[in-house]
Order: sequence, then structure tokens, then C-alpha cells
Amino acid sequence: MEISESIKRYKKELGENVTLVAISKTKPASDLMEAYEVGQRVFGENKIQEMTEKWEALPKDIQWHMVGHVQRNKVKYMAPFVSLIHAVDSLKLLKEINKEAEKNERVISCLLQVKIAEEESKFGVEAEELKELLASDEFKSLKHIQVKGLMGMATYSDDEAKVKGEFDYLKSVYDDLKKGHPEFEVLSMGMSGDYKIALTCGSNMVRIGSAIFGERNYN
Ligand SMILES: *Cc1c(COP(=O)(O)O)cnc(C)c1O
Repeated sequence: MEISESIKRYKKELGENVTLVAISKTKPASDLMEAYEVGQRVFGENKIQEMTEKWEALPKDIQWHMVGHVQRNKVKYMAPFVSLIHAVDSLKLLKEINKEAEKNERVISCLLQVKIAEEESKFGVEAEELKELLASDEFKSLKHIQVKGLMGMATYSDDEAKVKGEFDYLKSVYDDLKKGHPEFEVLSMGMSGDYKIALTCGSNMVRIGSAIFGERNYN
């Protein structure tokens, strides 16, 4: 299916209350423009350099989401423009984002990535550590970041019950934290292969790449 048709179809399926992040990593600017022309404004990338190049080249009303693992020494390149950083997994990284946001006179929105899959390769903070992090004085002193919610990646598996169990768990962690953090409003979970399950579990932001733009050759 064409990119523009996919975007329209997903928008319709997701409705008003779920944000579609079009994951455009490895794809050329012309593909992003095809989505842009039918109204898509939120794009996600997983490499800071690639995202920065696309930001420079493309219309300035695009909201850029960084969904990949972030290296601290590269935060400065995206600090002037990034709209949401999904995969924050340490206080150290939050401090770096805060520092660069302050230099740019901005407050940068972030999500904390929670480890919900069994796979060792998946990054994220253990749910028990989250409360501690959010309650620490050091965290509270960071005035140039705002944690807006949580992000998680389920195990890559055909076992729907397993995936659902992991998303249900993330939703329960989110609901629990939200009691003490009314500023929480984003629960980012679900990709091309599992977004339908994520939606039934309460996701309000899905990150869809290959189902819109086609298979990637790498990444
Ligand atoms: C690549 C990526 C996606 C999109 O994956 P698809 O399976 O192509 O939809 C979503 N989230 C993250 C963090 C990614 O790196």
C-alpha cells in the first residue's frame, strides 16, 4: 500500500485519542514528505544524526520523536528541536538532557523506558527503580525536563498472550505512578506487529514504522 494510504488508514483506525508516531528511520525524506502531505506531523527516528539531518531538510512544523537508545554525548545535537525523547533509562541521561535543554532555553519532554520484556537486549529501567528515581531530590531539581509518561517494548514474539501480559504490566505501572504524577499523560507502546494488542491494553501512543513505510534494509 502507498504511504499516504497507510497513514490515512491508521489515523482512522487510531482515532483522536491515540497519537501515531510514524517511525521513518532509514527512509528517505521523500517518503516522509508523502506522509506529511496527508497531514502526518509526528515522526520518530532512532539515530540522532539521521534525525538532525531530516529536521534540517524538512518542514519546521514536524514534531521529532527520538525513540532509540540515546548516547549522552549526542544529546546536544537534538536539544534545539526534539519534541519527545521516548527511551530515557537513567537519571544520568535525564541530567544531560536537562543541561542541554537549559542551554537552549527549553523544557524537553521525556518518557521513561520501562523494561517489560525478558530479552536482555531490551533497554529500560526496572519498574521498582522508577519510583525511587521519580522521588529523588536530584530528579526534582531538574527544571528543564518534563517526564510525561512511560514507554515500553514487548518481547518480539508470536505469543500474543505473552505480549499482552507485558503490555498489561506496563499499563499497571503507569496507572500506579500516575496517581502521584498527574503530569503523566503518555503511554507509548505498540509497533507494527503488536500495536493492536497494545491498544487493547491502554496505549495512547503507537510507534509504527515498517507497516507504513515498508520493510527496512537495515536496523
Ligand atoms: C524501529 C522502531 C519502531 C517501529 O518498528 P516497526 O516494527 O517497523 O513498526 C518502534 N519503536 C522503536 C523503539 C523502534 O526502534
